[in-house]
Amino acid sequence: MRKAELVGFEKFVIKEVPDPEPGKGQVVIRVNYCAVCGTDLEPFRVLKEKNIDTRYISGSMNLWAQMTGITMYQLLGHEISGEIAKVGEGVEGWSVGDRVVPRAYGGYADYVIADVKPAGLFSGLYRIPDGVSMEEAALVEPLSVAVAAVRRSEMKLGDRVAIFGAGPIGLLILQCIRAAGAGEVFISEPLKVRREVAKKLGADEVINPREEDPVERIKDLTGGEGVNVAFECSGVGEVLRQAIEAVRVGVPEYRSRGRVMVVGIYPKPAVIYPNWVVLKNVELRGTLAYNPPSAPDDEFKIALTLLKRRMVNLKPLITAKFPLERINDAFREALEGKHIKVLIHP
Ligand SMILES: [Zn+2]
Repeated sequence: MRKAELVGFEKFVIKEVPDPEPGKGQVVIRVNYCAVCGTDLEPFRVLKEKNIDTRYISGSMNLWAQMTGITMYQLLGHEISGEIAKVGEGVEGWSVGDRVVPRAYGGYADYVIADVKPAGLFSGLYRIPDGVSMEEAALVEPLSVAVAAVRRSEMKLGDRVAIFGAGPIGLLILQCIRAAGAGEVFISEPLKVRREVAKKLGADEVINPREEDPVERIKDLTGGEGVNVAFECSGVGEVLRQAIEAVRVGVPEYRSRGRVMVVGIYPKPAVIYPNWVVLKNVELRGTLAYNPPSAPDDEFKIALTLLKRRMVNLKPLITAKFPLERINDAFREALEGKHIKVLIHP
């Protein structure tokens, strides 16, 4: 089979490697689509930019690498949809041809191996419901990140929400908070393409932070109050300040503390004046990825239910598809910010 291997800066090489064989409790999946995640782009940024604290090689990829003992480069390609091609010994309830989303990695290839039993973050297999396309299914993993962020935010029915950064995760959070019954939703995003999609997907107000101060605008739109919850999805220090400023001042006796959800991954340290949080009585909460598949609330399952019930629409997010041979072009264009979500198909 073919496999794209990252061998240097902005350089994938398509290699011919032996077809994988499923071990006990495993299946081999023929990859239909593998989406490019922001974290897949990180090795490129790391190699390109200086001043990056390598202990946190900009976030989740390195953390996952530490947690799993797998190198960062091997982890590339984890937003996968496909069909079961081979079933290993001891696997029950799954057969060749089943349409699935695996918790797996190495998806820039013809085939991937997946562990059927949920044993860790990268194990477990989910059936794709009828009526959900393979393209949409490839985005179940990032949708799970958004589902987890929204559930952990404890947003309540009718809450006003601000989202800073309308990249894939910001746009998925937008759809999840709509499904969860958010009131007015305001989005701050510098890129026009993304602002347009945000508007289409139900944002009440889209703000271009290069033209106006998003904090001022959000204050105006909420009668000076600010929002109940702000999601910071940009990974930019200055924007984290804006998110803290955009939430309302906490009134403990009414349990109405504003909450900032830190979702973005920061390639550089951010400067925070703790009084922004303390004097406003604001809660600052981080959220990374999603629960392991063995947890009671498996966000992959929730994401698939939202898709099945058409409570989210992933199609407007998919703005490009590239064959595996053109993976270098796909990554270059993704890095240039030309697309919202790019799919690779072997
Ligand atoms: Zn991802």
